[in-house]
Amino acid sequence: MLCPYDAGRTAGDLKAIMEWMAMSKVIDLDKFREFFLTEVEEAYPEVERTDSLPEAIHKRAAEIGCYRLTLPVEYGGYGMSVTEYLPYLEASAEGPGVGRMLVHTTNGIWRPVHNFGNAEQRALLPKMGAGETVIAFALTEMTGGTGRDLKSVARREGDTWRLSGEKHLITWADRADWFLIVAATDDGSAKDSLTAFLIPRDIEGFEIDATQHTMGLHGTGHAFLRYKDMVVPDKYRLGEVGQGLEVALFFLDYSRVSLSTTMVGLAKRALDESVKFAKRRVTFGKPIATRAQMQTHLAMMHADIEAARYLVRHAAKLCEDGKDFTPQAATAKLFNLNMVGRVTDLALRVHGGWGYTREAPIERIYRDARGYWFEEGTAEIQQLVVARHVLETSAAA
Ligand SMILES: Cc1cc2nc3c(=O)[nH]c(=O)nc-3n(C[C@H](O)[C@H](O)[C@H](O)COP(=O)(O)OP(=O)(O)OC[C@H]3O[C@@H](n4cnc5c(N)ncnc54)[C@H](O)[C@@H]3O)c2cc1C
Repeated sequence: MLCPYDAGRTAGDLKAIMEWMAMSKVIDLDKFREFFLTEVEEAYPEVERTDSLPEAIHKRAAEIGCYRLTLPVEYGGYGMSVTEYLPYLEASAEGPGVGRMLVHTTNGIWRPVHNFGNAEQRALLPKMGAGETVIAFALTEMTGGTGRDLKSVARREGDTWRLSGEKHLITWADRADWFLIVAATDDGSAKDSLTAFLIPRDIEGFEIDATQHTMGLHGTGHAFLRYKDMVVPDKYRLGEVGQGLEVALFFLDYSRVSLSTTMVGLAKRALDESVKFAKRRVTFGKPIATRAQMQTHLAMMHADIEAARYLVRHAAKLCEDGKDFTPQAATAKLFNLNMVGRVTDLALRVHGGWGYTREAPIERIYRDARGYWFEEGTAEIQQLVVARHVLETSAAA
C-alpha cells in the first residue's frame, strides 16, 4: 500500500510549507508538548469524572494547530510529511490518552476522504483542520469480524441505499459530525464486497448510543452505532462500490505507523515517571534509583523505547518515499504494542504499591496502554500480516 500524498512531496514544497507554517505561527515542539503535559493533564480529573472531552480542550487543540499538522496545505493544513509529524505525535502521547487520540485520528482520517472523496466530501477537510468538524471511522462490529466478514449491509435502491447493521467502539462517536462507515454491498459486478460511506450524524434512522465506557483513554467518546433500513443518498458513498476495504486499509496502514508512534510517547512518559519516583523514593536509607535491580528495569525500558522509535521511523520513511510499507507498519505495531506493555509493567513495579493507586500518574498510563492491544487491529492480526510477508519474502521462500 503506497502513501500517495507523502510520496508526491518535493523539496520545493517543503520550503513553501515551512514558510506557511512560520506565517501561521505554528508553535514549536516544546510548546506543543507542554499543552498535553499541562492543560490536558490539568483537565484530566474532569475527563475521568465525565468520560468526555471538555470543549475548552478541543478548542485549544484546534487553536494550536493539532488538527492541521499533516493536513495538506490546500485544505489549510501545515502539510507535514510523516517523519516531520512523528515528533509532534510522540509528544502528544506523553499526556493523557485523550490528547494523543485527538492528534492521531484527525491527522489520519483526512487521507481516505482526500483520496477517495468527491468535491463535497473534500470540502469537509478545511473545517476538520479548524476543529469545526469531527469525522469518526466506523468499522468494528459485535456481530461480524473486521474486514470481509462485516455484517452491516447496504442495499441499493436507485439513487439511494438502505443501510442495516451495527458498529461499536467507535472513537469520537459522541461528538462526530460525520461517520466513515464500511458495509457489505456485494452486487456481483463489484471487484470486492465492501463499500464505504461518509454519512452525517443527523441522518434519519441513525442511532448513536454513547454509553460505551472503556478501561482507560477516558474522554475519547466511544459509542455503539445502530441503523436499520436507514436511507442513505448515493452522494454519501466514499469511493467506488466495492472499494470499501481499500478505503479502510488506506486509513489503517498509515494509521498503524501513527499509532505505533503514540506508543513510544506513552512509554517514554512511563519511563520519565519511573525515574522521578525512583530518585524520590528512599528505602533502607537510599533512593531506590541506586539499586541495581531498579536500574536494570530502567535500562530495559529505555532500550525497548529506543528500538520502538527507530522501528516506527523506518516504516514512516518507507511510507514517505512512496514504497510499500504495509508489512513494516504491522511489524512496528506488533513490536510496539508488546513494548508498551513491557514498559508499563516495569514502570508499575518500580512505583511499588503506590503506583496501583489513583493518585499515581502511572495508574492511568497503565490503563491507557492496554487500549493498544485492540485499537486498529490486535497483535494476532498484525502477526498474520507479518507472517504472510515473511513467508513470501524469506530467502527460503
Ligand atoms: C480504545 C479503542 C478505540 C477503538 N476505536 C475504533 C474506531 O474508532 N473505529 C473502529 O471501527 N474500531 C475501533 N476500535 C475497535 C478495534 O479496532 C477492535 O477492537 C479490534 O480491531 C479488534 O476487533 P474485535 O474487538 O472485534 O476483536 P475480535 O475480532 O472479537 O477478537 C477477539 C480475539 O480473537 C482474535 N481473532 C479474531 N479473529 C481472528 C483471526 N481471524 N485469526 C486469529 N485470531 C483472531 C483476536 O486477535 C482477539 O484476540 C477501537 C478499540 C479500542 C480498544
